[in-house]
Amino acid sequence: MIRVRFAPSPTGNVHVGSLRTALYNYLFAKQNKGTFVLRLEDTDRTRYQEGSVENLLHALYTTGVVPDEGLQLENGQPVENGEYGPYIQSERLSIYKKYIQQLIDEGKAYYCFCSKERLSRLRDEQRAAGETPRYDGHCRNLTPEEVQEKINNGEPYVIRLKLPENTDISFDDVVRGKITINTKEMDDQVLIKEDGFPTYHFAVVIDDHLMKITHVIRGEEWLPSTPKHVYLYQCFGWKPPVFVHLSNILNDDHKKLSKRQGDVAVEDFLKKGYLPEALINFLALLGWSPENEQEIFSMDELKQSFDIHRISNSGAVFDREKLNWMNGQYIKKASNEVIVKGIKPFIEKDSLIHVPSDDQKESWLQKVAELLRDRIDFFAQAPEELEQLLDDHYQIDDSEEAQDILHAETVPILYHALESKIKEADQWNADYIQKDIIKAIQKEHKKEKIKGKMLYMPIRLILTGSMHGPDLALIMDVLGQETCLERLHHFSESLKEGK
Ligand code: GLU
Repeated sequence: MIRVRFAPSPTGNVHVGSLRTALYNYLFAKQNKGTFVLRLEDTDRTRYQEGSVENLLHALYTTGVVPDEGLQLENGQPVENGEYGPYIQSERLSIYKKYIQQLIDEGKAYYCFCSKERLSRLRDEQRAAGETPRYDGHCRNLTPEEVQEKINNGEPYVIRLKLPENTDISFDDVVRGKITINTKEMDDQVLIKEDGFPTYHFAVVIDDHLMKITHVIRGEEWLPSTPKHVYLYQCFGWKPPVFVHLSNILNDDHKKLSKRQGDVAVEDFLKKGYLPEALINFLALLGWSPENEQEIFSMDELKQSFDIHRISNSGAVFDREKLNWMNGQYIKKASNEVIVKGIKPFIEKDSLIHVPSDDQKESWLQKVAELLRDRIDFFAQAPEELEQLLDDHYQIDDSEEAQDILHAETVPILYHALESKIKEADQWNADYIQKDIIKAIQKEHKKEKIKGKMLYMPIRLILTGSMHGPDLALIMDVLGQETCLERLHHFSESLKEGK
């Protein structure tokens, strides 16, 4: 039975890289009928940020990366479910206590009373001598009596792992193959901190073992720590899980993805109106590639196709243009309801856009959704795009081609026909406009050959200023009957003024 976990620390917003880690764990669990556990690693009290847990659960549930066990959301509230709890590390202190005692008793861990000042002096000296700073083992060999005396005196302490000298530690990583490191290169890791809390390194091993985690899929920043974890497994005589270390996600400059080059938090993307499905699709392909060229994957398709053996061992660049393209693809195919829901808050906030009053609002928004469907990559772009489409201060295209079209001899006839059809219209919707205005003009003016380009282009140029744009009937519908008439008249005025 496959059991994987996502084990974030509550340090603020969820980074897209974390969501990718969660997603890979989730996909691997789902395709193996396994269990995806969510555990909170909150032992570093100094990095705790209010609201992190809510953000985390919101990001996971919104994007569909929903845990089967551990920390979950029920009726909007965080709860813990499962037989291996608690799933929040700060609630597991008594468990860590028991296991650290075992290591101390077996001589595999030791108390260290070195002061911060001593450690910092040591680091400075080592650096000055060109050495890699590491603990010098000062407290490794204190006798039990010495230790007891110091504890009785109330001296603060940490507990460190007692690494064996000059010993190779090896493990296999699914992405990177066999990795071996000698304990000469390693430090006697602190396992229990001065505040009595375990460090990440200790808690992660205890919890992964007790929670029966079979595969650890996590970011490559944890690769250098893995030998310490592997050694701890050895100390306890436990079988380590399979390790899968994912390469970093990179900025354009090939450095680790950071805020400097734009948004990195899942929440930022959701707030800008990226669709969760598109974000997931995009993240899935950042570090994993399918066998074929397919780029658009639903979550179900990902569950089928994802393969941990095809995870890349080099970093993937977070290509924002590609994300926009992909999100645009999802918007094109989305239902009107989804688009309306996405664009509504942005459009309502924009004071330059006149949103019709309540009874007409919904149908207007439906039309706008249709209008914008092919024109935006994410919903926050809606107001600007719409402003441009609806802007009354448009300039008519002055290219030769456009001007030739507008000066054709059929244009005055078309103009008058259009004016009377718009005036006469007793309803206003894209269907009516297409059939009873545009097509009707064509029928009534067969003789003058007002059709095709010579029908659509002048109307489009007169009413929008441009030769390109969304479906003509649709844009006329959204502009409204009155505005279309005003624009017609404005055009004829400008002709008279010889502009
Ligand atoms: N708490 C660690 C983090 O914040 C988890 C690392 C791991 O998955 O082992 O990324």
